[in-house]
Amino acid sequence: MSEYQLEVEGVCKRFGGVVANDRITLSVPQGRIIGLIGPNGSGKTTLFNSIVGYHPIDKGSIRFEGREISDMRVPEIARLGVLRTFQQTRIYGKMTCVQNMQISMPHTNEGLRTMFSKYPPEVVDKAESLLEFLGLYAKRHLMAGDLSFGQQKLLEFAMALMNEPRLLLLDEPTAGINPTLINGLIERLKRSNADLGITLFVIEHNIRAIMNLAEHIYCLAHGQLLTSGPPDQIQNDQQVIDAYLGAK
Ligand code: ADP
Ligand code: MG
Repeated sequence: MSEYQLEVEGVCKRFGGVVANDRITLSVPQGRIIGLIGPNGSGKTTLFNSIVGYHPIDKGSIRFEGREISDMRVPEIARLGVLRTFQQTRIYGKMTCVQNMQISMPHTNEGLRTMFSKYPPEVVDKAESLLEFLGLYAKRHLMAGDLSFGQQKLLEFAMALMNEPRLLLLDEPTAGINPTLINGLIERLKRSNADLGITLFVIEHNIRAIMNLAEHIYCLAHGQLLTSGPPDQIQNDQQVIDAYLGAK
């Protein structure tokens, strides 16, 4: 078996005349934190959508733990342990944090039955211990809509953890968060990687944040893989600098 948990090979995805992903090849080793950067419109979110089965790809191969998943749909891929979070948070503002945690388990529960009946105590325990792990325990009975935006992002992350992902794709986790709180979020992400063993593949627009978080970074531009390397190398890469300046 391959040393990589996720292998993307020659992936192409177009929308009408727009080539959003053009022959993308990259790989993510098990248990690591890998970054994905690139200017707006460079195809980052499209690649995540392809990985989790949100839409079919036009060409190429996507393997998770050695198994081809590019022909699978979202629920099947989720059951294998591949989950994503979104650029915009998707929480229910009129439900408490614990309730949000409970309903976020469609991938491991039998769905509707548990939605309308009482949750078993182990689900509540799990929800509360994850909220504690992420520093939201004191807020667990508050309406999610009353949390700060940064706390809502943390809650969304906690909700993803309820499904015990093996690989979690995070789409701009620091977007919209007060800069003074970003370091705290980064520490939580690192801890969930280290303590829970979850592989993280992270899209970030905040270059300083991704330099601090990821050990290896892929950079896209115009739908293609521009370059990749460790953070200190990427930071000083003239192609990367030009891609960002050129996009402004
Ligand atoms: P990024 O996440 O790097 O900002 P995206 O993957 O969202 O980039 O978009 C890449 C390109 O694909 C853009 O030109 C965007 O307009 C286009 N695109 C993305 N999703 C769709 C879609 N569902 N329909 C049409 N075009 C899309
Ligand atoms: Mg995007």
